Amino acid sequence: MKRIEIRKKLEVLLPEKRFEHTLGVEYTAAALAMVHGIDVKKAAFAGLLHDCAKYMSGEEMYKEAKKYGLPISEAEKDNKELLHAKLGMTFAKSKYGVEEEDILNAIRYHTTGRPEMTELEKVLYIADYIEPNRKPLPRMEETRKEAFADLDHTMVLILEETMEYIKRKGKTMDEITLETYEYYKKNGGKL
Ligand code: FE
Ligand code: FE
Repeated sequence: MKRIEIRKKLEVLLPEKRFEHTLGVEYTAAALAMVHGIDVKKAAFAGLLHDCAKYMSGEEMYKEAKKYGLPISEAEKDNKELLHAKLGMTFAKSKYGVEEEDILNAIRYHTTGRPEMTELEKVLYIADYIEPNRKPLPRMEETRKEAFADLDHTMVLILEETMEYIKRKGKTMDEITLETYEYYKKNGGKL
């Protein structure tokens, strides 16, 4: 499906704020792809579709995920909205005709990250956090600037804030998020 067609569908499907966020991520991912020398169109597709399952409630996501036979982690059982990443990947493929494995993986790992991410996966993860409609989060200015200079180091900055946020809210953290943090702290942290 063409991006303009996907955009029209998502505008109907997603709540207004979520749709605005989606466009922000689409174009921020494209801009980051330009700076870091990766496929701009793939980044835009990944950005556009990353939250395509976010029109459902957590319970609905859980049901859908079971229907598709997706693996469900402990953290996802606890905080069902996390499932929108795996479900988004599934919908990107089944409803929007995306076949490229790298785009699908970027969508799948956009909330938790994973160790040894591809450039495209990092670009989407980071674009999701820094896009212009995001409320000013701690260290946002620094993070936005760093995103256009060093993806690995930006991963460390975002993961630190994210883990801090999860702790503060008393939410369950996916194990893979901690693994991702440790990986990038070792490999990307010039702190
Ligand atoms: Fe998301
Ligand atoms: Fe998002």
